[in-house]
Amino acid sequence: MIYQDHADNISTIDTGYLQPQTAAAYLLIENGHAAIIDTGTSYSVANILAVLAAKSIPVEAVDYVILTHVHLDHAGGAGKLMQTLPNAELVVHPRGARHMVDPIKLIEGTIAVYGEQKMQQLYGDIPGVDETRIIQASDAMSIDFQGRALLCLDCPGHANHHICIWDAKSHSLFAGDTFGVSYRDFDTSQGNFIFPTTTPVQFDPGALQASIKRLISYEPDTIYLTHYSGLVTNLTGLADDLHSLIDAFVVFVREAPEDVSKREAHIWEQMYRLLYQRLQDHGCQLSEETCRQRLQHDVVLNTQGLLWWWDKTQAVYG
Ligand SMILES: [Zn+2]
Repeated sequence: MIYQDHADNISTIDTGYLQPQTAAAYLLIENGHAAIIDTGTSYSVANILAVLAAKSIPVEAVDYVILTHVHLDHAGGAGKLMQTLPNAELVVHPRGARHMVDPIKLIEGTIAVYGEQKMQQLYGDIPGVDETRIIQASDAMSIDFQGRALLCLDCPGHANHHICIWDAKSHSLFAGDTFGVSYRDFDTSQGNFIFPTTTPVQFDPGALQASIKRLISYEPDTIYLTHYSGLVTNLTGLADDLHSLIDAFVVFVREAPEDVSKREAHIWEQMYRLLYQRLQDHGCQLSEETCRQRLQHDVVLNTQGLLWWWDKTQAVYG
């Protein structure tokens, strides 16, 4: 099953990134027209088109493709998808727009993190988008999607090219990576389990915490995450968990050994231990090894982002 329907004509589409139920795109339908929020990678386009077909929405009736931010697991498929949608406009943060026109910086940055082979394997080819089809979403800009207002909120902290989208009709938010990561494998009778994503290269703990507070101030009924799907219960409690984990992660990097060859592994271990401890407190029955496997991709990227932020901070204030 590559999609799941929710209230108010919202569907989660599994983009197939890394493993099932790891990254989502969202489909909104209004008056027989569609808006898509985040795209996954170039390899995800087939899934999005399959869901449009299953819903009998012609490609001509897709009005908007909205990107929460231009990290490639969210925006890597935008160029290829836009080629198949003749009438769609692409909505993106002003700081992300030029990277969608010419994705070379995104591609180079990803090769720097993953290497060329893994980059191709994860993301494939990334064509640019014609500048005339791009709408730059400044803070509080409202998109009129068939009379359904979609409000763009500038939400820095995970990345400074990040917007979240408030959908007043469903009283819900599309949070991209700003409201962390919550995998369904970690749900228990106590509810959802959540942790922040602090990936490179623009993570900023104070800005992220301010953005999380801003999201909660809307008192949403549902928060739709890219990783993964909609959260409906105890949203303020989950926000508290995010705040305390961001604080803990900052301590990990602050107290990491100075020896550069040791600090990455040190932070990994601290992060695994803390998250596994919290999972156990949450009533998770999965083995430690299974938890570590599920968390591995995020722990590695989170550690890189923390170190990047810390080194930048030290260079300025140290
Ligand atoms: Zn991201």
